[in-house]
Amino acid sequence: MKIEKYNINLEKAIKLIKKKEYKIIGIQIPDGLKGYILKIVEYLETKISSKILIISDPCFGACDIANYELKNLGLEFIIHIGHMPLLKNEEILIPTIFINAHSILNIKNVVKKSIPLLEGKTIGVVTTAQHIENIENVLEILKDNNLNPIISKGDNRIFCDGQILGCNLSSGMKIKKDVDSYLFIGSGNFHPIGLLICSKKPVIAADPYTNSIKKEELYKLRDKILKQRYGLIASSLNSKKFGIIIGIKRGQQRMELANKIKKMIDSSKKKSFFIAIDVFSSSSMHGFRDIDCLVSTSCPRIAIDDFIQYKIPILTPIELEIVLGLRKWEDYVFDQI
Ligand code: SF4
Repeated sequence: MKIEKYNINLEKAIKLIKKKEYKIIGIQIPDGLKGYILKIVEYLETKISSKILIISDPCFGACDIANYELKNLGLEFIIHIGHMPLLKNEEILIPTIFINAHSILNIKNVVKKSIPLLEGKTIGVVTTAQHIENIENVLEILKDNNLNPIISKGDNRIFCDGQILGCNLSSGMKIKKDVDSYLFIGSGNFHPIGLLICSKKPVIAADPYTNSIKKEELYKLRDKILKQRYGLIASSLNSKKFGIIIGIKRGQQRMELANKIKKMIDSSKKKSFFIAIDVFSSSSMHGFRDIDCLVSTSCPRIAIDDFIQYKIPILTPIELEIVLGLRKWEDYVFDQI
């Protein structure tokens, strides 16, 4: 079905629900698409007779699948909208189908606008799930302009060639040596800045929603973020008690890394504590008065986004290595899963 800027194709889910005769199904949708949820439910009601439960907890990515506790409500199946699959089947405890929300915005203009800003001939093209169906069109436009665009497969967290996540830039990083610059198609700054910091290659961001291009602005934002991170690292140097945040969300769990971090901290004659958390917020940490510094092994965005609201510094595992003298600031990169 088409809703405003998106095409959300529910037919595969409908077929499966009918075939399996599911009685109660749930729908998980990110906050940004929640405005469409009633239209989606109304549409499904015309096609299936199952009871439909809207799962209203925030849903940040395909890492954030519906809670197993929902089984107690009789939920048999979940339609997860707006993200591409990220977890292995065996990690998903309630059968789930991932339905992307494909942007139907025309990308032609914004891609053409980006061309004068691209550096060199070989261009790495990366995008988010919303624009992934348009990636072939992007490649065509660049080729028509005598450029050599390339895309790459990411690692096993990445579903489509050329797709990147806030926590995973592997499809961009794999072609780092081959490209002169990158073209990112999508909105927001986190993905292109992550790529800029990790690849150290020029990145141009083309936003089909606003029909605008960013290049210099990304450099300025990168410098601002690096300055903030440097300040946080410096202010954490004398920390004695560390809280290691472990994400409860299925696709954010990094227990092995948390164990490694604990060993690193404890062998530096500092103290560390594991703190498991599902939905992170600045207020959820208020009670931990004796903790000097937090290290997040959960979603890498936790440490970077909204850092200004946190009373206790929150570092990424990479930043902790710098605090402990195990990595140089010059080797700073964004944390990735
Ligand atoms: S871990 Fe964070 S960045 Fe990665 S998919 Fe989940 S919410 Fe997005």
